[in-house]
Amino acid sequence: MFTMYCHENSLRSMIIGKGSNCLFDDLGFDGCVILNQIGFLERIEPGMFRVGSGFRFNHLGILCSNEGFTGLEFAGGIPGTVGGAAYMNAGANGQETADVIDSIEIVTTDGKFQILNRTDLNFGYRTSPFQDMEDLAAIVAVTFQLKHSESARRRQQEYLERGFQGQCPLPKGGGCGPRQIYKAYYAAELIERAGLKGHRVGGAMVSNIHANFFINSGGSTSEDMLELINLVKEMVYQKFGIQLKEEVLYVHPFCNSLNSNSDK
Ligand SMILES: Cc1cc2nc3c(=O)[nH]c(=O)nc-3n(C[C@H](O)[C@H](O)[C@H](O)COP(=O)(O)OP(=O)(O)OC[C@H]3O[C@@H](n4cnc5c(N)ncnc54)[C@H](O)[C@@H]3O)c2cc1C
Repeated sequence: MFTMYCHENSLRSMIIGKGSNCLFDDLGFDGCVILNQIGFLERIEPGMFRVGSGFRFNHLGILCSNEGFTGLEFAGGIPGTVGGAAYMNAGANGQETADVIDSIEIVTTDGKFQILNRTDLNFGYRTSPFQDMEDLAAIVAVTFQLKHSESARRRQQEYLERGFQGQCPLPKGGGCGPRQIYKAYYAAELIERAGLKGHRVGGAMVSNIHANFFINSGGSTSEDMLELINLVKEMVYQKFGIQLKEEVLYVHPFCNSLNSNSDK
């Protein structure tokens, strides 16, 4: 397996889903980036889905709600993969990925395949045990257990209509999409109250539509984005005494710490 090859040859490697929670440095990445394309879906029994980690999380959310199952309504608006959602414990509207996981299949850097039961895994707000698992090569598949609900589809429609996900249009032309930057929902309110909506550093800008999204308004460098993140954190701290913590993972170009902008 490729990650095993990297491990044996001391090459840095990283698996990504859609990269929707990653901020890569303009200098690149001195290693191998593996784009996950494990995209199968199996129906084990009513409400139980075993899904490849590269399967699109928003498609899964829509499919489950359409089939009358509750628990993944929130996923309809999340632009990542199943693996990324498990790794980040993605969530919205009072639901999170960990709530409906039954088990997770992983491969370790030395090529071992393991099935982990949800009951043995500790998840937190946008955190999972995988973020600290040094020998994790990849999450391969996730099995979800959902309950029947007549109202799941209607609820998902409501989330999509009122949710902030749809409020932040992708920029036309080049540039990266919007990045949800901070972990807390109220972060947007604090940033807005600090008068930072629309604030720019170079091409990086706090969205005028939803302040928890920072966009590339054209020609932004990763440095612009990092500077804007730090500036906003600093100004919110000065004004409200609250330390924001970014959800987006900065991928360092050289060092071994993938998430050097986070606690990891
Ligand atoms: C417009 C927008 C709206 C968003 N809305 C929300 C929201 O409502 N709620 C929310 O929680 N998040 C939200 N996000 C953040 C992001 O979409 C989620 O964190 C998502 O779960 C990331 O999935 P991904 O596949 O893109 O992961 P990536 O960004 O590709 O990767 C994120 C991390 O997961 C690791 N990873 C990914 N796949 C695997 C795998 N198979 N095995 C091991 N590690 C893996 C990567 O190495 C990386 O460290 C939003 C982002 C955007 C841009």
